[in-house]
Amino acid sequence: MNIGEKMQEAINDQIQAEFYASYMYLSMAAYFEANNLSGFAKWMKLQAEEEKEHAMKLFGYVCERGGKVTLKAIDAPKASWNGPLEVFEETYAHEKKVTGLIYKLFELAAAEKDYTSQSFLKWFIDEQVEEEAGASAIVEKIKFGKEAAHVLMYIDKELGKRGGCC
Ligand code: MG
Repeated sequence: MNIGEKMQEAINDQIQAEFYASYMYLSMAAYFEANNLSGFAKWMKLQAEEEKEHAMKLFGYVCERGGKVTLKAIDAPKASWNGPLEVFEETYAHEKKVTGLIYKLFELAAAEKDYTSQSFLKWFIDEQVEEEAGASAIVEKIKFGKEAAHVLMYIDKELGKRGGCC
């Protein structure tokens, strides 16, 4: 059964939100690169890639359901922060916001009696648990270390070990 108009529109909005998140994390990576924190930068570049994958997963789903993807404009993200703590607090807050958006999509799918979309969206609901936990853990580590330089250098080294492309 083809995807309904409302669901298609809502998923197109989510594609935009995922690309915005990707763009925002890439901007955070640029900020870290400019501040010689290459481990933090690597983590953010991989995060940006992951958000792009989320967008493409939604893109593929709309197409598979016989719908049409319409890409929308992406706002310019913020470009500077007052250190890693602020960056990761914003990351955590953003992931919580995205979780809310996914819940809204799921609610719409339920209201529309679109069982296929409900099933598809479960992957995103589960993924958000990981996304929130990951960002929150980094916020807590930075806070625990009271933002001391040697602690930040240690975390930078640890985050640089994140596997992936960059
Ligand atoms: Mg995402």
